[in-house]
Amino acid sequence: MTPKLRLQPEARGIGMTGQRARDRLVLRLREQGIQDERVLSAIGTLPRHQFIDEALASRAYEDTALPIGLGQTISQPWVVARMTEALIEQGIPKRVLEIGTGSGYQAAVLATLGMEVYTVERIDELLRSARRRLRQLGLDVRSRHDDGRLGWSEHAPFDAIIVTAGGAALEPSLLDQLVEGGTLVAPVGGATSQRLLRMCRTPEGIQQQDLGAVVFVPLLSGVQ
Ligand code: SAH
Repeated sequence: MTPKLRLQPEARGIGMTGQRARDRLVLRLREQGIQDERVLSAIGTLPRHQFIDEALASRAYEDTALPIGLGQTISQPWVVARMTEALIEQGIPKRVLEIGTGSGYQAAVLATLGMEVYTVERIDELLRSARRRLRQLGLDVRSRHDDGRLGWSEHAPFDAIIVTAGGAALEPSLLDQLVEGGTLVAPVGGATSQRLLRMCRTPEGIQQQDLGAVVFVPLLSGVQ
């Protein structure tokens, strides 16, 4: 765990947003098959209630996706945990690119695990709030307001890439920005039948693994 995480008193929360609520969520994730202690520890530490609207804070530690405005959602904790687990199976990647900053929660999990995080979001208003939250937590995340389907070529290649919005097919330019030996995790498929895919770039080509069915908001083009 990085010692950089800065938790103000509001971040620790109380009652429905307090440590016991986070501990119960961790227990539930364990029961649902999440095994990586580093991931469980990050989720047990990060104040998810600060990544959503105050009116929803009491639901922050339920294992469910929640609205964050502008038609978008903060991903379900189990999905965040599963994707992160899949990304760090071969060791913690040094530099990771996230497409779809949203609330900033997934980026915070990655940064807490010690990764150098680059994240791209197409909705400016969401990105501004996410930046503020990450800064408050003392997490150093590089972010950009752009259509992330083309990645972030100036900082490529990355050791890992995580896409947190569902596209009909994987954007080929993203795989081009992955180092050899790197891992990419992304939901791929139509609005009703997305699969979470893990791809590893090897000298022989791309190795693909299907991690199961998921539901994500769509990967859209252009910026807003
Ligand atoms: N990782 C986020 C999940 C947010 S939902 C979190 O932890 O909260 C997915 C996000 O992807 C939304 O904010 C949406 O606006 C964004 N998104 C969709 N298409 C995108 C694109 N082409 N480029 C960048 N961001 C995109």
